[in-house]
Amino acid sequence: MPVSIRGYAAQSATSPMAPFQFERRDPRADDVVIDILYCGVCHSDLHQARNEWGGTHYPLVPGHEIIGRVAAIGAKVTGFKPGDMVGVGCMVDSCRHCDACAQGLEQYCKEFPTFTYNSTDRHDKQRTYGGYSERIVVSDKFVLRVPSGLDAKSAAPLLCAGITTWSPLRHWKIGKDHKVAVVGLGGLGHMGLKFAKAMGADVTLFTRSPGKEEEARRLGADHVVLSTDPKQMEAVASHFDFILDTVPHPHDLGPYLATLKLNGVHVLVGLVEPIEPTVHSGALIFGRRSMAGSLIGGIAETQEMLDFCAQHGISADVEMIDMQDINEAYARMLKSDVRYRFVIDLASLKNAA
Ligand code: ZN
Ligand code: ZN
Repeated sequence: MPVSIRGYAAQSATSPMAPFQFERRDPRADDVVIDILYCGVCHSDLHQARNEWGGTHYPLVPGHEIIGRVAAIGAKVTGFKPGDMVGVGCMVDSCRHCDACAQGLEQYCKEFPTFTYNSTDRHDKQRTYGGYSERIVVSDKFVLRVPSGLDAKSAAPLLCAGITTWSPLRHWKIGKDHKVAVVGLGGLGHMGLKFAKAMGADVTLFTRSPGKEEEARRLGADHVVLSTDPKQMEAVASHFDFILDTVPHPHDLGPYLATLKLNGVHVLVGLVEPIEPTVHSGALIFGRRSMAGSLIGGIAETQEMLDFCAQHGISADVEMIDMQDINEAYARMLKSDVRYRFVIDLASLKNAA
C-alpha cells in the first residue's frame, strides 16, 4: 500500500505554499525509500511554483536538493542499505540508453530526464513530487552517496547549486593555469567561487554592488571587480579564460565578453530566457570567444563533486528554516536576502502547520 506522507505544495501560481498530504509509491525492485532530513530552496522552486517558466502542474511539491536517510530498499538494490546518508538532486530517472545517458550525462537525455518534481514518472505515469516532504522514493541509479565527511545540512545545496557550477568548471577543465570570473554572488555564485578556488584557478568575482570584497574573499575570490565601474572593467579587458555566469535574469553580456581573452568562454548557468540586450557577434569573432550554456550535471559527476567536497572540506553556506517559513523565505530570496541558500529542516513538518 502506498504510504501517505506530509509535504508542502503550491496549489496554483498565485497561492502560497501550504501543507499537502499525498502518497509515495511502494518501492519497485530498484527503488530506494528515503526519509528526507533536509532540502535546499532553489530559485527554480519559486519559478515553477509561480509558473514563471510555464508548464507547471498543480499541486506542485518543489525541492531538488534533498538529503536523507535510507529507510528501505527494493529487492534488487545492492548499493544502498537502510541508514545510509544519501542525496537526490534534480533528476530521478532518464531513458538510460540514448547517447547522453550512455555518457553519464543524464541531464541531457534525448528523451528528457524525469525531473524530481513537476515531471511524470516513466513507469507508472504518476506525477513526481519533490523534497518539500518527509519521504521520497527514487531509483537507485539516481541516488547519491553522501560521504561521511560532509555535514548533511550544508550538503543539500550541492545537489543543484553545487553541481550546476561544478559541471561546467570540470567540462572546461579549469585548473591552476586559468583565470576564472564568477558573475553573481548567490546560491550558485558562492559555490562557483569555492570550486574554482579549490581547482587552483585565479578567481575573480564580478559584482554590481560595492562592499562585497571581504565576503567574496572569504568564499574564495582573489579579486573583486565592480562591473558598474568602467575603469575596473577596462582593467580586466581580454583577461579571463572562463566566465561562470550565474545571474538568473536578463543582463548585458557585452561588457563581460570584452573581458575574455583569446579562446575565452562565457558559460550561462542561471539564465533560462532570451538574451537581452542582444550580443554583437563581433564580441565573439574578435578573439574567437565562445558563449555556452550548461545544465546541472550527470549522476556520476555529481558523485564526483560530493566526494571532492568531502576531501576538500567544501560545503554550501546555508540558513536553516522550518517548512512553515517557506513563503517568507521565497520573499527574501527575491530580494537576494539569503547567505547563500535556505535549507528546510523537514523535522519541522511534524509541527502543526
Ligand atoms: Zn535548482
Ligand atoms: Zn537518455
